[in-house]
Amino acid sequence: MALLSIVLPAYNEEQNISNTARVLSGMLTENQIEYELVFISDGSRDGTFEEIRKEAERDPRIKGAEFSRNFGKEAGIFAGLAMASGDAVIVMDCDLQHPPGAIPEMWKKWKEGAEIVEGIKKSRGKESLGHKLSAGLFYKIMSRLIKMDMNASSDFKLLDRKVVDVLLGLPERNTFFRALTFWSGFRTETVSYEVQERQYGESKWSFFSLMKYAVANATSFSTLPLQLVTVMGMISILFSIILAVQTLVKYLMGTAVEGFTTVILLILIIGGFLMLSLGIIGHYIARIYEEVKGRPKYIISKVTDNVQGSVLGAWKR
Ligand code: UDP
Ligand code: MG
Repeated sequence: MALLSIVLPAYNEEQNISNTARVLSGMLTENQIEYELVFISDGSRDGTFEEIRKEAERDPRIKGAEFSRNFGKEAGIFAGLAMASGDAVIVMDCDLQHPPGAIPEMWKKWKEGAEIVEGIKKSRGKESLGHKLSAGLFYKIMSRLIKMDMNASSDFKLLDRKVVDVLLGLPERNTFFRALTFWSGFRTETVSYEVQERQYGESKWSFFSLMKYAVANATSFSTLPLQLVTVMGMISILFSIILAVQTLVKYLMGTAVEGFTTVILLILIIGGFLMLSLGIIGHYIARIYEEVKGRPKYIISKVTDNVQGSVLGAWKR
């Protein structure tokens, strides 16, 4: 019988672990799906890993790992994928905002031959205005840059084993899970779901972390900002030609004394463009620098006792 792995990244979610494990176990047993739950605690500072450990002792189908520090949700997802042994793997949030009720439908579509089953949000659920605005801006920028509609997509997905292996084989460190599955190009089906309210605790994303995530993903998935530098250069050149002609005409007519305003404006405009361009290029160099160092995406410090094999070495690649 086919095995379904569910990967659940968790950061400071001690209140959610046992409830989520219980809800998922109940639902999967009811639907007669053979499963395992893989919780990845992303360097939590509360009792998240202790909770995972308790669950693992209660049920051998539940396992987990703890990172040495907070590496971010992307790293958590990839560690979970590396630890999962299922024929299909579902990635979902451990705060139950991704409804477990959608899993049987995903499973069914996978059985019918889909290699990726995307969870598509019907609406964004209840969020604070600030969060809504920053998330909205984030998705707008991302969709533009990546040329995919990101607004409705989420990290709630089912992946076939071969997709998981493709993702794990990617050499890059700066991953963007949501877009990478799209990029991989496997046969995709969708399941739409209603975003649920968070069970316990609050969202782990701040405005600042979302913006950081946006810049990181934009630079790792698009070179458009770099091309923008060329566009700015061309605009500057156009301006300078117009101004050069004007200056020459004034000189030839013998009225070339005025013009400090123009000089000041030119310095400001060119200076602004130059600094912006350097900033953009700097972001890409930072990306290259990070990739070149070849550091692991995450470092696992602890695993539950029922984890077999050399998971601790998995990060070495
Ligand atoms: N998460 C994580 N590492 C982080 C931030 C979040 O593993 O650095 C996990 C978190 O525990 C949750 C999921 O990612 O399971 C989604 O996070 P959250 O619910 O805070 O985001 P939101 O639902 O508000 O987008
Ligand atoms: Mg959430």
